[in-house]
Amino acid sequence: MAYFAGLDIGGSTIKTVLVDNAGQKAGALVEVPSDVKKGYEATFTQLESALDQLCAAIGIDRYEVEGIGLDVPAPSSNGAIWGRANLADDWVGVNIREAFSKRVKIPVYMTNDCNAAAVGEYAARKSYCGPLLFLAPGTGLGGGFVLPGGKPFDGANGLALEIGHVSVPFLETDGKMPQCSCGLEGCLEAWVSLVALRRRVGCELQKEEWKSHPLNDDALTIEQKAFQLRDYAEKGDVFALKIFERQARILGYALAGYARIFDPGLIVLGGGLSEMQFRDQYLTWVKASFEKNGWPMFSVSPMDPKKVTTRIEWAIAGDSAAALGMAAVARDLFQ
Ligand SMILES: [Zn+2]
Repeated sequence: MAYFAGLDIGGSTIKTVLVDNAGQKAGALVEVPSDVKKGYEATFTQLESALDQLCAAIGIDRYEVEGIGLDVPAPSSNGAIWGRANLADDWVGVNIREAFSKRVKIPVYMTNDCNAAAVGEYAARKSYCGPLLFLAPGTGLGGGFVLPGGKPFDGANGLALEIGHVSVPFLETDGKMPQCSCGLEGCLEAWVSLVALRRRVGCELQKEEWKSHPLNDDALTIEQKAFQLRDYAEKGDVFALKIFERQARILGYALAGYARIFDPGLIVLGGGLSEMQFRDQYLTWVKASFEKNGWPMFSVSPMDPKKVTTRIEWAIAGDSAAALGMAAVARDLFQ
């Protein structure tokens, strides 16, 4: 029996899992603290510790692990980190994939965390084998694209699917395109992310109609206001729902454009949005905007009006999506 490991490096934890050569999960998920800010060597020590715990739990030796899929929370190209994001400085400029592979003496595939989660969603859906587009709105907005068969599309330099940084034609209340954290203007991430919510809440609360809204309390920071917005929306607050509705409709507009590029068949929405109590309502807004702004053939088949051509769904693979996705890729590549 051969085994393959998926190692998902996050900002605060490292989630790891083993699968066997039939693709079945072997043992339980092992989670260790992430030391990414202490440098890559410290993180390698944590990864090795997790790997040893995974092996010990099912009574195998490390040499029985024939391949590793590793994902990092930063843009990387062929094993090297190109932008440090939340990592320590020493990660940049080193071929992390080669260095870790040499250390554990196991072949390693490496990609970013969103590509990994995209593959995890693909692997979790046994009945779907077409192309899958994944978006994960969180603090920012990442994405991934999985080709039929389960391979992530990395692009020529490992930089593909930065779909949060494609601009959409919407203006903020000041009549301008909003500034994005990447330096560009009007990116989708500047509308659909936690960072975007903070700006939106601030702009909307200045309008006369919301002057008496409880979120217009000066004792609250903008971070607290954005954080509380979801609670208000879940209670049916009109102000909060209006902000989420606009966000959902802009997201639907962008998805209609991505459908014309990728013809994905299945679009999966992950990140914090997938945990919202009013997510069914949110998805209704996204789908309505997708239909309004897209070509009809991307919604239903012209040959059979009952056949949906692009499904839009919430993520189902949960917190361990990226680790499971990386184990699945390692199995495909190194078996
Ligand atoms: Zn941007």
